[in-house]
Amino acid sequence: MQSAGEVTNCPECGHQIRVDRRYVTWCDKCDWNVDPSPVEDSTPAWRLKLEHRLAESLYRELETGAVHRPGWDAARIAAHVLSALILLVPLACLLAGIALLALYRPLWLSVPLALLAFCLTFLLRPRLGRLPTDAQLVHRDQAPVLFRVLDEVATAVGTRKATAVVVDADANISYQQVGWRFRPVVGIGLPLWAGLRPQERVAVLAHEFGHGRNGDAGSSWLLAGAWSVLDELHQTFSEQHGDRIRREEGYEDYTGATFASRLVNATVGGLVRGIAWLLLRLELRSGQREEYLADRRSGEIAGSEAAARALERLLLADRAYHAMERALRFPGDVSSLEAVRRSVSEVPAREIERHVRASRARETRTDASHPPTYLRIKLLRARPATTARVVLGISESAAIDRELADPAHRVLAELRSEL
Ligand SMILES: [Zn+2]
Ligand SMILES: [Zn+2]
Repeated sequence: MQSAGEVTNCPECGHQIRVDRRYVTWCDKCDWNVDPSPVEDSTPAWRLKLEHRLAESLYRELETGAVHRPGWDAARIAAHVLSALILLVPLACLLAGIALLALYRPLWLSVPLALLAFCLTFLLRPRLGRLPTDAQLVHRDQAPVLFRVLDEVATAVGTRKATAVVVDADANISYQQVGWRFRPVVGIGLPLWAGLRPQERVAVLAHEFGHGRNGDAGSSWLLAGAWSVLDELHQTFSEQHGDRIRREEGYEDYTGATFASRLVNATVGGLVRGIAWLLLRLELRSGQREEYLADRRSGEIAGSEAAARALERLLLADRAYHAMERALRFPGDVSSLEAVRRSVSEVPAREIERHVRASRARETRTDASHPPTYLRIKLLRARPATTARVVLGISESAAIDRELADPAHRVLAELRSEL
C-alpha cells in the first residue's frame, strides 16, 4: 500500500481512498477493511447466508408495502403454544412434589424427592420484569422537564406514560414493563444519551415507547415468562463456570461432579438450547417487524432524518462507552459525559458510513433482537421524509441533563470504583 499524503490506493481494487489517521482506512468501492476487527462468529457460512436472505426479504417486503402490526401467522401462534408448554414445566414440578408427598411411600424417600421437586419449582418460577435492586430510579417530581418530554412522546405514540426512569452506564436506551401491573420504565444509558442531539433523543424515546404500544400485555407476559424459565433452565443445566475453566486449562479429570454435569449439559442442556433456538426462530419475524414498526413511528414523531441519525449514533455506542470509560480512568478537565459528547460528535460522515457498512457484515444475524441497523436506516430514508411532531429544543435538552446530573453522578462514581 503506497500512501501519498492524505490518500492511498486500495490494496484490493486499486481505487483511490482517503486516509484519516485517527480512523480506520477503508475502501468505498470494494468495502476493503470496513470491519478490521470482525467479531468472532462460529456460525457456519450456510446459516449466515440463509439469515442474510431472511433479513433482506423482510426488508424488501416492508420497503414495497406498508408496515403492518405483526399478524397472527403460524409462527407466532406456535411461539405462544411453545411458551405455554414451557410455563407448564414449573407447574408440573409443583404437582409432582405434591403427588410424591401424598401418594408415595416410604416417607423417608418421598420427602427428599418432593423437596427436590419444590426446589425446582421455585428455581423455575416465571419471573416478571424486575428492576435491579441498585437501580438509579428517577421519578416524576425529580425531573419535570424530562417527564414532560416523555409524556409528550408517549401521547404521540399512543401508549401509557412512563412511571419511572432508570439511569445506568450502558450504551443503550431501553423500555421495560415492570411488575404485575406492567408499569412502563424507560432506561437511559448515559454514554448513548450523552452523545445524542436533542431531536435524536426524541427519536430514540419514540422507538422505545413504540414497543409499549405494539405488544399486548397478555402475549408479552406469556413470552417473557417462558424466556425466564428457559434462562433459568439454561443456567442450571449447561456447562458450569468451574467446568469451563477445567476444560480450558486442559484438565481431564473425570471427577464425579464434572462427569455428571457434562452428562447433564449434553442431554438436558442440549434440549433446553434446542427449545430456546426454536422459540427464537418462531418469534423472529414478528419481532423484527415490530422493530421496523417502532422505527417508523419514531420517524413520524421525531422526523425521519432525526430517526435515521439516531440509528447512526447507535452504531457509535462502543466508541461512546470507551470514551466514557477512558474519561473515568484518566479524569481531565472535562466531565466524562462531555468527553462522550465530543468523541461522538467529532466523528466524520465517512467513518459513520464505514460503521453502517460494517453493520451489514456483522448484524445480519437474525437472532439479534433488532434487525440489522443498516437496513433500519435504509428503510427510514427510503420512505418519504416526515417532519417532527414532538420537538425538543437545545435548552430543554440541556435542562434534562441537569435534572439527570445527580443520578448520573452516582452511576458514574460506582462505575469508577469498579474500574
Ligand atoms: Zn477497494
Ligand atoms: Zn427496539
